[in-house]
Amino acid sequence: MSLTTTEVQITTRQELQSQLEYIKQSKLDHRYSPAVVKIYDLALSYVEDAEKHARNGGRAAWATGIWDAPLLYALDIIPISFTELGRLGSSDAMTTAEDYFQFPKETCSMVSALLGEWYLRLNHPVKDIIVFNSSCEPMNIGWDLIAAEGYNVYRIESVNRPRDNNPERLEEQVRFLTEELADLAIRLTGKPLDPVRLEIEISRVNRVIRKARQIIELRKDNPLYIKSLATMFLLMGTGHYFGKPDEFEATLDLLIDELKVADYVPSTRGKIVPIAWVGGRGQEFGVYKTVDDCGGAITAWSTPNSWTHEWPKAEDPLEAMAKHILGTTGGHVIGSPVHRLKRIEALIKEYGAKGILFYSYVGCSFAGIHQEVQRDHFHKLGIPSIGLEGSFQVGPPSGQLLTRVRAFVEMLS
Ligand code: SF4
Repeated sequence: MSLTTTEVQITTRQELQSQLEYIKQSKLDHRYSPAVVKIYDLALSYVEDAEKHARNGGRAAWATGIWDAPLLYALDIIPISFTELGRLGSSDAMTTAEDYFQFPKETCSMVSALLGEWYLRLNHPVKDIIVFNSSCEPMNIGWDLIAAEGYNVYRIESVNRPRDNNPERLEEQVRFLTEELADLAIRLTGKPLDPVRLEIEISRVNRVIRKARQIIELRKDNPLYIKSLATMFLLMGTGHYFGKPDEFEATLDLLIDELKVADYVPSTRGKIVPIAWVGGRGQEFGVYKTVDDCGGAITAWSTPNSWTHEWPKAEDPLEAMAKHILGTTGGHVIGSPVHRLKRIEALIKEYGAKGILFYSYVGCSFAGIHQEVQRDHFHKLGIPSIGLEGSFQVGPPSGQLLTRVRAFVEMLS
């Protein structure tokens, strides 16, 4: 018998107040798994240790932590993912964005939180920021504003794959992006990239992707052994290794060994409802916890971390990188959301998802349109979904958001 929304609300633990609290709670919930605890430890020490590295004469840079890590590691630069600022930063960031940068309240929370945080961290050692000119106009203006405060912003001109671009056009885009990446290496270090170093890093990322795929596959039979929030951290780690490639890879090996012999972790609500997550890597951790607490588990993941596809081969490793970013062989995709539909369909089938949570940030018209295209497609296929809009900054999740998640999981139960 499934519980009503109100009963679920009463029995679910009280919402925690910050991302850090959710991580601490989830660490405790996973005390049976040294590997999951290690992933959280890597996440918690990530920014501080990268900054320590910079203070001690090494180099680190703010980056997406999605597609750029192999190039940066090949240049001896530790990538620090922007997303960590939204999770582990200060709650003063939004006030700073409004008071100092004079951003209107309705500005996308990602822009406000990032700029506010970087402003508050002016006395920290990492001053390089590496970005694509492809996110959105507010963010493009944001890069200019933060550069004026003393950060070195390395902007990469981007390309965009429209719905129906022809192969010649795509080839041209790959060429353009390859040149941009080669130029980025020179701007960052003053000399051309050593291609052998990048080849080594591409081998590493492909190894990591294979291990992550094995973990997600093993998790199918025991979804709550690695709960939804922890799984998201694991997948994010495939994009940057939390600044510690060897330790991260060793942790994946440990997790594979654990999963092979792990006892089944039951849901307190009986049967587990598999769910797909499509969109941004949500900053409101209460959403993941609520899914698990209500008898669900996110098993199919379509986020910017393309863990399903290895990086392609090419004579020039920078070309392989450009192809991966453009998704020519199924990696990350810059461009129309239509290119992702078949992949999401395949994930839903493979992981038996009964419904989809589409996630984007409030005020992001970009993601809002992607979500509309995708929701319409899956609605026609008869797959239930809800669209969630969350915020990027530090703080508790909104009660309304969690109520909608509970109601959705309950409906699928
Ligand atoms: S969430 Fe959307 S609006 Fe906000 S910075 Fe990202 S792309 Fe721009």
